Amino acid sequence: MTWSKLKETIESHDSFILSSHVNPDGDCICSQLALYWYICSLGKQAVIFNTNPVPSKFHFLENSDKIVTDHPSKKFDVLVILDASNPGRIGWEGYEEIASYIVNIDHHKDNSRFGHLNIINCDAAATSLMLYEFFQACSISYPSSIAETIYAGILTDTGGFAFSNTDKEVLRICAGLAELGADCSEIYRKIYSSYSTQGLKLRAKIWSTLKLYHNNRICSMEISTEQIDNLGIFYGDIEGMSDQALIGSDVEVGLFIKYSEDTTHFSLRSKGTVDVGKIAQAIPGGGGHTCAAGCTIDLPLDKAIEKMLAMIKEKLG
Ligand code: AMP
Ligand code: MN
Ligand code: MN
Repeated sequence: MTWSKLKETIESHDSFILSSHVNPDGDCICSQLALYWYICSLGKQAVIFNTNPVPSKFHFLENSDKIVTDHPSKKFDVLVILDASNPGRIGWEGYEEIASYIVNIDHHKDNSRFGHLNIINCDAAATSLMLYEFFQACSISYPSSIAETIYAGILTDTGGFAFSNTDKEVLRICAGLAELGADCSEIYRKIYSSYSTQGLKLRAKIWSTLKLYHNNRICSMEISTEQIDNLGIFYGDIEGMSDQALIGSDVEVGLFIKYSEDTTHFSLRSKGTVDVGKIAQAIPGGGGHTCAAGCTIDLPLDKAIEKMLAMIKEKLG
């Protein structure tokens, strides 16, 4: 029903701008590229605009070089926001003016349904998987490059099929994508074995900040935004460190912290005993899923960690 509405919306308009959340992850990029492919295949005009550039590990994806970070000056018929639960997540101003019709396709449970057409599936493992469902529901066939793109989006949002959002349906869909030409080991290698030398060195520094709290049930690692800026590191070089904070067998909640003088950003990960999405949501502007979420506390590092640890300990008991 909603998928046919999306198809109708695309068919009845000419120009589209696609945007996603700040610091785009694999799911942002891949869901955008899949929809971009479809819109372009109909001979319509589409622009992908994100606040931050595509991490280099996703440069292998077809058309990733078309994604722009300069705010377009023209207006479009439709703005499609993918993988972002509220307008604040896109990180740019004036979204209401850039198009007269807004579509939101997302899988975050804290979605605020801000679009004219909201296609929200909180049970979907990835927004990219929702694009797979769109193509299935509307019998849209696509080339192997798009099977690869959708596969990469699902791969990254399931943490390499490691998070609890990986289920038999996800694996079935991915098997189908492999049949359509997605090369699983090649995609894995390109995304997960692709760090720059600079990025590797930074990772070593980040590992050295590892701290354990609450009987080893909480693990944190941190980096200052100053260090990130000084080393000229891209978001892609440090993406995934939050997942690394969770690999200790006793660890139930992992934190990856990026801090400046008076603000502290937390990437939260959970093995499932604690809903970190709820914790992040308790902080203004924060949100996410049960096992992966993010928020920024407007306090210096020490005070922010204190506050965050108190919130997590309360849930852990
Ligand atoms: P990250 O730690 O940035 O990888 O984010 C983990 C997950 O939480 C991703 O699915 C994000 O889209 C989501 N997320 C992170 N920060 C926020 C936020 N402020 N509001 C809503 N969702 C968020
Ligand atoms: Mn995302
Ligand atoms: Mn996602």
